[in-house]
Amino acid sequence: MPERPFTVTRRLIAGGLAAGFGGAALFGAVRLQRSRDARAATTVMTHSRDIADPVDLYPKPPFEKQTQEPPGLASRMRPVPDHGEKSYRGSGRLTGRKALVTGGDSGIGRAAAIAFAREGADVAINYLPVEEPDAREVIALIEEGGRKALAIPGDLRDPAFCKKLVDTAADGLGGLDLLVSNAGQQHSVVALEELTLEQFDSVFKTNVYAPFLLCKAALAHLKPGAAIIVTASVQAFNPSAHLVDYAQTKAANVAFVKALAKQLAPRGIRVNAVAPGPFWTPLQPSGGQPPDALPKFGSNTPFGRPGQPAEIAPLYVALAAAETSYSSGQVFGASGGSGVD
Ligand code: NAD
Ligand code: MG
Repeated sequence: MPERPFTVTRRLIAGGLAAGFGGAALFGAVRLQRSRDARAATTVMTHSRDIADPVDLYPKPPFEKQTQEPPGLASRMRPVPDHGEKSYRGSGRLTGRKALVTGGDSGIGRAAAIAFAREGADVAINYLPVEEPDAREVIALIEEGGRKALAIPGDLRDPAFCKKLVDTAADGLGGLDLLVSNAGQQHSVVALEELTLEQFDSVFKTNVYAPFLLCKAALAHLKPGAAIIVTASVQAFNPSAHLVDYAQTKAANVAFVKALAKQLAPRGIRVNAVAPGPFWTPLQPSGGQPPDALPKFGSNTPFGRPGQPAEIAPLYVALAAAETSYSSGQVFGASGGSGVD
């Protein structure tokens, strides 16, 4: 069995900035005024299909200083993230599909799970047992829409659990067409001397070993037309100084997706990666960013704000849906204007 969950040593920057997402604001007076306007926001606006300026769509830094023990809960974040609970409207794009989403309790995985269900899919979610309160909300949202929901808690650092998870999801859903390998750990550590082997191992087991083991187990169930989506990161291409271990895992995700896409193409299974920029999820206040950097989170993007999970879920839907039949081995970004380089 793996070591205790999330026992990591974290040396946090005192008064410093995260090199990646927490950089200084570089923008003009309009941007600064917009930031001041957003400062008072305690809950996020909901996304809609109406035309809107993406710069002003959601809260901007500065955010309230806040920390949680990892893995953290979405419900305790201020402002609470928008996962599309009130806004995502489906149009039958995934009718009858069976999906497994890891990290489906919160953040990007939760937004994908909600969107999949609203598009007509039955959805199993995996998460850590301590995240049960977030997971219960997602299960209720999926069931409200008349879809089947399965809650399968467990630690992905345990190889036996990875296989059991996939088989339980396939058994419970009556098959498997979509695998979203999205769960991840990120713990900011400023100095290499402070990065413990324990943390390195835990991050690699969650972010690299688990996608491999999940995909391997899923192949027993996936048929032509199935899709695998792995959540990578812009850190694969532009790593931050304080995320030495995490950035490597995300680069590994990209290489894994590109290689596996080639291997599985003859079997009619597509494999793609999504590479998010800064997103407002529990990952960040629970050690992903140094606490002093969190209030500025997302300020160094051209949009001047982090993304909300609801804004990236449509990419997962697109990659899961049959219409993107010629896309495999690709990396799709959402990073507030910065691009993926
Ligand atoms: P999140 O905290 O909401 O989701 C991460 C989830 O990973 C947790 O909810 C937890 O259920 C799961 N998890 C972690 N360790 C686990 C383990 N050992 N076993 C089982 N589950 C485990 O945060 P998020 O930002 O939505 O993260 C989702 C993915 O997005 C991660 O892979 C992350 O690396 C990636 N990502 C996030 C950002 C960002 O800025 N938030 C940017 C780029 C990539
Ligand atoms: Mg969570």
